[in-house]
Order: sequence, then C-alpha cells, then structure tokens
Amino acid sequence: MLPLEVLKKAQAELLCYGDSGMSVMEMSHRSPEYEAIISDAQKALRKLMNIPDNYKVLFMQGGASTQFAAVPYNLMTKNNRADYIVSGQFSKKAYQEAKKYGDAVIAASSAGANFAFVPETTRESFRPDADYVHICFNNTIYGTKFPYIPDTGDIPLVADMSSCICSEPVDVTRFGLIYAGAQKNLAPAGVTIVIVREDLIGHARPDTPAMFDYKLMADNDSMYNTPPCWCIYMAKLVFEWLLENGGLEAMQKRNKEKAALLYDYLDSQDYYSTPVDRSSRSMMNVVFVTGNADLDKKFAADAAKAGLKNLKGHRSVGGMRASIYNAMPREGVEALVAFMKKFAAENPKEEA
Ligand SMILES: *Cc1c(COP(=O)(O)O)cnc(C)c1O
Repeated sequence: MLPLEVLKKAQAELLCYGDSGMSVMEMSHRSPEYEAIISDAQKALRKLMNIPDNYKVLFMQGGASTQFAAVPYNLMTKNNRADYIVSGQFSKKAYQEAKKYGDAVIAASSAGANFAFVPETTRESFRPDADYVHICFNNTIYGTKFPYIPDTGDIPLVADMSSCICSEPVDVTRFGLIYAGAQKNLAPAGVTIVIVREDLIGHARPDTPAMFDYKLMADNDSMYNTPPCWCIYMAKLVFEWLLENGGLEAMQKRNKEKAALLYDYLDSQDYYSTPVDRSSRSMMNVVFVTGNADLDKKFAADAAKAGLKNLKGHRSVGGMRASIYNAMPREGVEALVAFMKKFAAENPKEEA
C-alpha cells in the first residue's frame, strides 16, 4: 500500500507539477524542477533515517535483485571473499549471485528449518578476511526479521532492507551498505535505494558495468543516465509523508501495535498457527496457516471477496501472508482479525 494522502497529492499534481506546465512524467531529468525533486527526495530520506554525511544515498534501477550482483561487483574486491547469512529466499538468491563473482560462502543458514527463524551469529561466524557480510534484514516471504544486528567487527555489514526500510529507526552507522527495492514500503516499483559508506565506493572491479558502479552513480548524483523520475518523485512524497507523521519512531510504534494485534490473535486460538519462531517475528509480513491447504485456499479467496486482498502466501510457502507495511492503517489489521474469527467459526475443521 501507499499512503492515501500521497496518492491524492500525486493525483492533484499529475497533470501539472507546480507551475512547470507539465507532469513529472513529462519532465526532463535535467530540468531545474526535476533536479529539485531528486535533491529533496535525498534530503528527506537523510533526515528520516538520520543518515550521516559520510554515506552516499543513491537512486538506482533494476530492483533489489540487481544489487545482488552490484554488491559483489563493488565490494568483493579486496580479498574476493564474502560471507552470507542465508535466512530466506532473497538472501539465498543474493548468495547464489555473489558466487558468480568470487568466493562467497554461507556463514549461517536456517534453510534446514524451512527458514522459520533467523540464525544467531557471533563474530566468529565470519571469515576475518571477508570483504563484507551480507544479510536480508526482513525476510518477506517467510515473515521473519533479524532480532539483532550481527556483530561483524571491522567487516562491513551489507543489508537488504527491501521489505522493512523506514518501518522503524535503524542505526545506519552499524551498516556499510543498505539497499532496498522501493516497491514494498516506499514507492512504486522502479527505483532502488542504496545507502553506502563513502570508503566502500571507488574500488569496483574493472569490469563493473557502468550502471552498477556506485562511484559513478555517486559522482553523477544518481543521474548518470535517466533515473526513474516518477518513482523517485513518489518516494519523495512518501518520505515527506513519513516526516509529517512523526518519522520512524512513530512508524515503529504504529507498526508494533499493528503486528501485535495479529500475533496476539494468532497466539490466542488454535485454528490458525504461524510457522515463524517467536524470536524472529516480522512486523511487516505476518505468515500464518490453517494447517489444511484447501482451507488456506478458501481463506485467501473468501478474504479477497470481502475486500481483504493479497493474502495468499508466496508460492514457495503456501498458506497466508499479511503484509502490513507502513501505509496499512490499524483498521486494516482489525478488519483482517475480524475476518479470521468469522472464517474460523464458519469453516470448522473436520475431526481427524
Ligand atoms: C521483494 C524483495 C526483493 C526483490 O526485489 P526486486 O526489486 O523485485 O528485485 C529482494 N529482497 C527482498 C527482501 C524483497 O522483499
């Protein structure tokens, strides 16, 4: 979801942005109007996430999946080694991509437990000469989130935050690089946010494609080529909406309350269950099942008819997944819990 206020603002400005006489979709990215938009977007994100001056903020393309390759191209260049914590499908994909470019290994994994929790690690879990350690902070498909920030000592920590960016405050200084495809919690698909510490750029492999090169992107203020202008404009509106609504502390409070409504209900009954370990529950993606594949299917279909959309779990796990990103109001979660109660009452499970 995107915040309704943001959609309305975009609607109001759709045909004519300010007194430019045109839509943002029609602007030259080199126009003064657009340069103000992209620069304001960056400023707003810096303020929102409290990003220190020694970090670059880049607007890139190709989604988070492109970063699976861009990260090793740019960072796996000192010792040609990187350590991956595999806690779900996206971190696995990131690891598989990195293996093409160097000595990438799995430092910890919860694959054996069907990714029901995030593995614990200590400094000793990582090779001391790894160029970086990669994690996926919130595992969208499995509904888990890192309950801790791994201690990697001096090794830069790289985090895919696609499905939790701006859902709560994070200490950016604990990370060497944070990236996020915008379409889960920030903006329409098409832009990827990269927040990278300055000392980590400028060491890319010589064969790095220009479009993947953080240094080139930073030196050109993310406008080495035409950026995804509309998506960045939408992201700017969302950043401003977040700032106007209390920033990330307020989001965290709101998101905690929303998630608690669902988890408290799940814990209070035995019709539904969640496969996710209590230690690693995500605030953004709540995964649950009835334990019966036919009922799960009926649940998603009946819920959609009742106006509760997109509740089908990812094709690789089945069941249900409620994605309750920033813009989902508390009322949306209340409506879901009410529907779950009704569905359970009307669809008794057959005695075994
Ligand atoms: C959705 C998602 C991706 C994939 O993003 P694309 O932008 O489609 O490449 C990667 N990582 C996480 C955590 C995601 O949620």
